[in-house]
Amino acid sequence: MTAGAITAGAGFPLPPNATIGLVGGGQLGRMSALAAARLGYRCHILTREADSPAAQVAAGVTLSDYADPASLRAFAAAVDVISFEFENVSAAGLELLAALRPVRPAPAVLRISQDRVAEKRFLNQAGIATAPWEAVDSLEGLHAAAARIGLPAVLKTTRYGYDGKGQARPRRSEDLAAAFAALAPKPLILEGFVDFACEVSVIVARGADGAVVAFDTVENRHRDGILDLTLAPARVPDSVAAAAQDIARKVAVALDLVGVLAVEMFVDRDGRVLVNEIAPRPHNSGHWTIDACPASQFELHIRAIAGLPLPPASRHADAAMQNLVGPEGLARWPAVLAAPGLIPHLYGKTEASPGRKMGHVTTLFPRGGLPGEFGVAAALGPARG
Ligand code: AMP
Repeated sequence: MTAGAITAGAGFPLPPNATIGLVGGGQLGRMSALAAARLGYRCHILTREADSPAAQVAAGVTLSDYADPASLRAFAAAVDVISFEFENVSAAGLELLAALRPVRPAPAVLRISQDRVAEKRFLNQAGIATAPWEAVDSLEGLHAAAARIGLPAVLKTTRYGYDGKGQARPRRSEDLAAAFAALAPKPLILEGFVDFACEVSVIVARGADGAVVAFDTVENRHRDGILDLTLAPARVPDSVAAAAQDIARKVAVALDLVGVLAVEMFVDRDGRVLVNEIAPRPHNSGHWTIDACPASQFELHIRAIAGLPLPPASRHADAAMQNLVGPEGLARWPAVLAAPGLIPHLYGKTEASPGRKMGHVTTLFPRGGLPGEFGVAAALGPARG
């Protein structure tokens, strides 16, 4: 296909050699493109950065920001279906893409996940529990919301927050003015603070035919607001793991999702599962599936958006995944490579700024054999900071 000419897409299921357009050039796009290549597809990346992790392994690249109509048109003309690894595309940009090519998941799904208020409203309407929350647009409104929800609480920007950015944690009413000043004038949401026992997530995939498969519930540990460690499976009672999977399936169906979706949840001290946020794309807490599952989250995503059948989201091993973050993470790379039993993944980023995800490692255990804390730490030894 020549750029500029809008021709009909290839139709579903996508035949071999069809081109999948991915918006976003990061590591999620890179690993999606690698999975797509194994299924005989090409990927074309829309990214701002020439040498982005996804562009390095893709068949084609459109270099542009995510709003320029001419670039979006050229990108759409070069591909058969469009998906996202980066969610913050403008509503107008999404409309334009969706008018030209099938967009999976649908723009309506992205719009919900782009905005924490829309997301929480949607979840609660679908009967899914979250922390108590209120939209906040003034300091007076914040005081009123805090009086209803209680303190401590978590104040977040409704959009563009990730890895704990765009958050403040007022503990007392004297903290509210500073928290508001730090985050306003952006639209905000106040959430009740969940004194969680652990954080878990489920990656669920839904095909174009409505088939739904969910990976096992995993446990996530964060450091400085960034995912540090994922343990598969989560060390929670079976009933909690099953409840988390049920929630993820329910969200996927309620959204009419085509693709994969990550649902991040808190397990509170009473064993109740509350959804924190959803991401309609492959997710960092699913990277372990590359090495521990016959078909990874990335393969399931590509299969779903290509209209292929979904295999079971089964797991042949237990796993621990640790991120390599920032310059310290990158400094561990030689030791990671030298360690038997660590499966290394590097994303091809040339700048290791603090907090940036540079790669990850996975270590596998026989199914049912995930060791305790010390065993996991020992197995990940060279990858740990
Ligand atoms: P988020 O940006 O919403 O993913 O939040 C990043 C991290 O902050 C989460 O993984 C939690 O560890 C913590 N966090 C977010 N919201 C809450 C909350 N309502 N209560 C307690 N901890 C939270």
